[in-house]
Amino acid sequence: MADTAERVQYELSLLPWQSERWAELMERRRNGRFPHALLISGPEGVGKQQFARRLAASLVCETDDLKQAPCGECRACRLVRSGAHPDNLWLSPEEEGKQIRIDAVRTLIGQSSLTTQAHGMRVFVIAPADALNRAAANALLKTLEEPPPSSCLVLVSSRPQRLPQTVRSRCQRIAFRPVADDMARDWLAALGAGEEVEAALAAAGGAPLAALQLLESDELKRTAGMLEDLYQLARRQVNPVSIAQGWAREPAGKQLARLRRVLFDLGRCLAHPGARRLYLPQLAADLQKSVNDINLQGIFKYLDEINRLEREMSHNLNPGMLMEKLVSDWLSLTRPEKH
Ligand SMILES: [Zn+2]
Repeated sequence: MADTAERVQYELSLLPWQSERWAELMERRRNGRFPHALLISGPEGVGKQQFARRLAASLVCETDDLKQAPCGECRACRLVRSGAHPDNLWLSPEEEGKQIRIDAVRTLIGQSSLTTQAHGMRVFVIAPADALNRAAANALLKTLEEPPPSSCLVLVSSRPQRLPQTVRSRCQRIAFRPVADDMARDWLAALGAGEEVEAALAAAGGAPLAALQLLESDELKRTAGMLEDLYQLARRQVNPVSIAQGWAREPAGKQLARLRRVLFDLGRCLAHPGARRLYLPQLAADLQKSVNDINLQGIFKYLDEINRLEREMSHNLNPGMLMEKLVSDWLSLTRPEKH
């Protein structure tokens, strides 16, 4: 099932857990009450961008007559799918983890005042919208208050609380929740996923697309590797400098996310022995045994530090120094086992 995650991202079909939200929106459309601004929120990996793409296609589809779905075959649908439709513009950070700046928003607003190139509506998608910096978000306000005719602005975010209240309140909210286990399992099985489905779903917090990505990557293995590093550091069995250097070889954002998952597991194991829905159930129990001296407060403190570093990442922190700090903080939280 290689590359299925990549393919699914650009399909225009409706994901099974999205049918209710879709029906509501189409109902509004038939009644002539289609919103000019939408905020699609929900956890990472439930298909928010797919939903936005399908919506964009349905609004420009050449065979559309206020039906329930884009045809997926016409020229307009094909252009939306390949990201090349002139009336469906996407705005994302230039690099993952970076901010969307005001110039980019101004360019988008400039384009929104042009007339449509084909029949249908212009659809502007900003994803992830929480990457907008404060000035860029404020620049959107006027467009949200006086939307250009025949246009729809779609904000996509898994962290909508990071958007200014003034922006959120001007958008119609479409909120997705973690998907029910049965539905997620069936969907993954239909794509050909095998025995690892349960572990991937647990690791992805019930988000099927995130689970699919895990199944197709070596992310689970890498996270297990990080846990092993923490284990060895706690037992003083490894050179801290070489661990920090190893961690710095990969993008800091990814490493911080891995570290946070491992720490969450550890925290849950300490708070509720036998806790369920762990990222790495087996290994987390091992780590718990190895760091008996660490307390829950220490874990929370370390998680706070990870969150703080993550927020400051866009300020060009040196990755080498960042990882050294994380390693030394971990060492001061753990005590080597006495024999
Ligand atoms: Zn079509």
